[in-house]
Amino acid sequence: MSLHFLRTGDHYPMSDPFGAPRFETICAHHAEDPSKYLGAIVPPIFQNSIFELPDAETFTNRASSGRYEYSRVANPTTDILEAKLAALERTDAARCFGSGDAAIAAAIFHSVSAGDHIVAVETSYGPTRQILGEYLKKFNVSVTYVKGTCTQQFADAILPNTKLFYLESPSSIVFHLQNLREVRALAKAHGIITVADNSWASPYFQNPCEFGIDIVVHSATKYLGGHSDIVAGVLAGKQEHLSAIKELEGTLLGGILDPFASWLMLRGLRTLSVRLDRHQQSALAVARYLEDHPRIKNVNYPGLESHPQRELAKSQLRGSSGLLSFEFKDGTAEVSNKFVNALRYFRIAVSWGGYESLAIPISVPEGHRELEVVPTSKMSWGSRLHIGLENIDDILEDLDQALKK
Ligand SMILES: *Cc1c(COP(=O)(O)O)cnc(C)c1O
Repeated sequence: MSLHFLRTGDHYPMSDPFGAPRFETICAHHAEDPSKYLGAIVPPIFQNSIFELPDAETFTNRASSGRYEYSRVANPTTDILEAKLAALERTDAARCFGSGDAAIAAAIFHSVSAGDHIVAVETSYGPTRQILGEYLKKFNVSVTYVKGTCTQQFADAILPNTKLFYLESPSSIVFHLQNLREVRALAKAHGIITVADNSWASPYFQNPCEFGIDIVVHSATKYLGGHSDIVAGVLAGKQEHLSAIKELEGTLLGGILDPFASWLMLRGLRTLSVRLDRHQQSALAVARYLEDHPRIKNVNYPGLESHPQRELAKSQLRGSSGLLSFEFKDGTAEVSNKFVNALRYFRIAVSWGGYESLAIPISVPEGHRELEVVPTSKMSWGSRLHIGLENIDDILEDLDQALKK
């Protein structure tokens, strides 16, 4: 049987004869073999649903044949992507999905059964909380939300039927962190699975699996795609979990990534490190500018020295991406709206992680920066900004003129 017809995903171990490749090299080359694709440097889009099998016997044994059969099960373009993503997250395996939410749902369904209990970070992505707190009621699965800024908050929330800790570090509006090493140690002692949303940091700045986290989630709609032209999701993690997810939630529930979107994500990955270096550089310049501005109460950005969890951030993150938020001293809904409307280069749109700058008005609970105290219901108004790849002087001038209004 020719290797050319075998599924690629399992044939690229992390280390190669030249030693383990580094991040940027994985993005450029890992799991690619032009000799399999008529010498094409860029892997082709296998835009097909089915694959021919050589004979009836192979058909009968197709599940164990190592061959491609059906693109809902495996597709060569997506396999290259999944092998790269596993290597970038420094873990065993990855599975792509048609959206971040499809990936999150698959990770949760993998982890819990009817009647189980979940402890989740209260500032995690909104639709994630809807799945956890509302949809899962159908299966009598309950959830306790914790602030998550101290590991004791997780310990206090554990019940005899707790099966999952759902984490998002940093979270994407107020940028609270969880101590991934500590939370994972606590989970392990209680036989609890840990799932962490790593969309904000991307694998370039953080690898939760290195701290023992079982499953990492990405909305690849954000930095992994990076160009605001795909909706996609990723799960990466230990083989024991990912093998089951590939076979069950990943294949049976059908939320696969289509080959063209896989190809676009491969294209996005080629510039991931370069883009994130620039997002970080510009976001840090913006965060420092905003922090010094007389109208602004505080800036929420894990890259700033003033972040309440800066020491933890430095121990878990290798850098900071382009998404941040701030609160006005004199904040009201009108003040936030006026600011966002006055921006020239920032588009008003959901999502983030593309090449372009974005701004939305936000309100966050007063006192959210205190690590222990539960915030009051009083709200503080501001804006969430995604700092794109435009010239930094244009970005700063734009913010400056909008803040004068
Ligand atoms: C956008 C987002 C998601 C959901 O991803 P989709 O690709 O929109 O389904 C999950 N988590 C975080 C932190 C996000 O920002």
